[in-house]
Amino acid sequence: MPEKKMGMKGSPTAQVHLDGVRVSDARRIGEEGQGFAIALSALDGGRLGIAACAIGVAQAALDEALGYATERRQFGRPIADFQGLRFMLADMATQIEAGRALYLAAARLRDAGRPFAKQAAMAKLHCTDTAMRVTTDAVQILGGYGYTADFPAERYMREAKVLQIVEGTNQIQRMVIARHLAGPETR
Ligand SMILES: Cc1cc2nc3c(=O)[nH]c(=O)nc-3n(C[C@H](O)[C@H](O)[C@H](O)COP(=O)(O)OP(=O)(O)OC[C@H]3O[C@@H](n4cnc5c(N)ncnc54)[C@H](O)[C@@H]3O)c2cc1C
Repeated sequence: MPEKKMGMKGSPTAQVHLDGVRVSDARRIGEEGQGFAIALSALDGGRLGIAACAIGVAQAALDEALGYATERRQFGRPIADFQGLRFMLADMATQIEAGRALYLAAARLRDAGRPFAKQAAMAKLHCTDTAMRVTTDAVQILGGYGYTADFPAERYMREAKVLQIVEGTNQIQRMVIARHLAGPETR
């Protein structure tokens, strides 16, 4: 049975149970005993994909918020005139640009065949936290409409949330980054 989720509904999620499955040597990826390392290395690439998705969601939320703020008028002028909202929009755009630069830098390392695990974890962490902040701010800028399903902002916020969880939660990304900086934890 597919899970009932708050977002990511275009991609059904279900559990897969493998019980007593036999796989021939010819179908095995890598050598015996290497499976965990291979699975972990696949995550590094996946994190770049999640980072890119997060920046896409954040950009869509900024575009929506900007369009609304220039159209909606209160106190005789567009709400985009108010400094409180202008500063929010400026922060949203800056965080998005920084995130885009971070995941593209990590992707360039990967393309060049150089180590990129730390940079992929940093990109996943920064871009998905950015998506959560930016989409939440977009809902705020749309005011009451932002909280309704008549506008896409609330959906962007729900889509951003899962990106902080999948492909290793953002707590795990911090652990990965810290290990690259300070080595493995000691007990
Ligand atoms: C929509 C969706 C799709 C998914 N798709 C897949 C998939 O295709 N394949 C797949 O294998 N999995 C998939 N998952 C599972 C996903 O990878 C896990 O949910 C995620 O890695 C977190 O693991 P958990 O749920 O067991 O949380 P837990 O490990 O139980 O963590 C719970 C909380 O504790 C924190 N935590 C745990 N350990 C530590 C620690 N050492 N230090 C600090 N904080 C910690 C976590 O960050 C989290 O906040 C999917 C999940 C969702 C929601």
